[in-house]
Amino acid sequence: MKSYDIIFIHPPRTLKHNYGKKARFIRGSYLFIPMGVFAIADLLEREGFGVKIINYPLEQFLDINWSLKDYLKSINFDICGIDLHWIHNSHAVIEIAKIVKSVNSNVKIILGGLSASYYRNDILKYFKEIDAIISGDGETPFLQYIQKVNHNKLLDSVPNLSYQDSSKHIKENPISYVAKTLDDLNFTNFSLLKNAKYYFENSRKMMGISGVIPIGRGCRFNCPLCGGGQRAQQLLAGRNNVVLRSPEKVIEDINNVLNKFKVPSIFFGHGAYPSNLKYWEQILKLLQKENLDIGGDLEIWRLPFPKEMWKMFSKTFTRRDSSISISPRTTSHRVHQKIAKICDPTFNFPLNQIKDTIKNANLNLTKLRIWLTMGYPFQSFIDVMKDFIFASKCILKYGKSNFKPITIMNEAYYIFPGSPAHESPESFGIKLKYNSFLEVVEAFKKAKKSYFYNVINYKKRFITGTNIQNLNTLFLIHAAPLFLTSSLKFTKTMDE
Ligand code: SF4
Repeated sequence: MKSYDIIFIHPPRTLKHNYGKKARFIRGSYLFIPMGVFAIADLLEREGFGVKIINYPLEQFLDINWSLKDYLKSINFDICGIDLHWIHNSHAVIEIAKIVKSVNSNVKIILGGLSASYYRNDILKYFKEIDAIISGDGETPFLQYIQKVNHNKLLDSVPNLSYQDSSKHIKENPISYVAKTLDDLNFTNFSLLKNAKYYFENSRKMMGISGVIPIGRGCRFNCPLCGGGQRAQQLLAGRNNVVLRSPEKVIEDINNVLNKFKVPSIFFGHGAYPSNLKYWEQILKLLQKENLDIGGDLEIWRLPFPKEMWKMFSKTFTRRDSSISISPRTTSHRVHQKIAKICDPTFNFPLNQIKDTIKNANLNLTKLRIWLTMGYPFQSFIDVMKDFIFASKCILKYGKSNFKPITIMNEAYYIFPGSPAHESPESFGIKLKYNSFLEVVEAFKKAKKSYFYNVINYKKRFITGTNIQNLNTLFLIHAAPLFLTSSLKFTKTMDE
């Protein structure tokens, strides 16, 4: 029987046993493991502990009859880490914790990730299976937690830790560990992940993107629905700044991934915006020197993204497997202005700059995905109609040509805990549906698997969550000609 000191389990979106081959088409099964898990696991291994990472949705994808319980019975382990970064995993995390404790009630279960950080008190109060939660950055706190547990010592000096003490009282230590640099962490020790080869080689099939490479931590913006923005990170992780990895480390990681796995592209886990363009230039230049045959997926977090950058991007990466994404969420200047006033003055995507972005994508034959959301805060019926018209114009102009690589994507959205709209819903003219973690778990328990977000947690004055979802489905169908021509035929044409 194999023995580990610590295992990490990445939870699925739902525990229903219907992944199998279908999962190829289900982005909602959410295969991605938050990159911090790799860094923590590697640090623990360097400190002499036996570590394994298990990706639940991947295991079920590979074998529909795979059972976590049976697998856990076949190994020995003392501590189990489960990531609860994305809120969509809420129900599955709790169910997995119950399975772990049913196999061995002495195992300590520790959660981490932004959603766990947000709901730490609720989780520890209502779910006795969970022994501890780390808020924010996890490397040093996790290591110290294990050292203290192993020596039966008090946990009150472990940074960022919330836990149940021996008398089952909830204790919360201050968030005092915030990583100042990421260059001493290793995000590519894939030997620790069960079935790593399949993880990297199936990500694209399931998620549409592959091979995530961490670039930094933190964000300087405050998009209304995002739980990873500047203020949310300050609240949940004590992080006041953005820390970016050295470009050389990023290139080293890309080479590590490519040397081990057949991945067509790299998804960069941090976007481009005016104040970090120099940084992106350095990365692209270094990549050009490496002369790699690889695609790149990059997000533009704030405009403008100058034409020189488009040129460099298209020169660096293969066209077939590359894309640039931007998320103005609506084309309404009125909505952007309202949001700029309430939570982020940089939330500004003027239509002329979006049109310039489209022009540059066309000029450089680079796939561009523009992400919109119907039912966005402040969006009126007229704004929604304008977004439909914008999509119609794009279809007329680019919908039939394989050489115009523009896609308009849309998704209904879950308002993430810690985001500006979550913390102050009334300022955004919305009402939240779930206010406690118990309600969140219940909502995700009932949710079906879907391509996009499967639970909508808000309503607006004249539109319910269900109608927001229906409106987004209608928009998706409306914009489908762009998706079908630019994503599929474009790829084929460029290949030929
Ligand atoms: S969605 Fe906005 S706030 Fe969130 S990480 Fe991206 S740019 Fe930052």
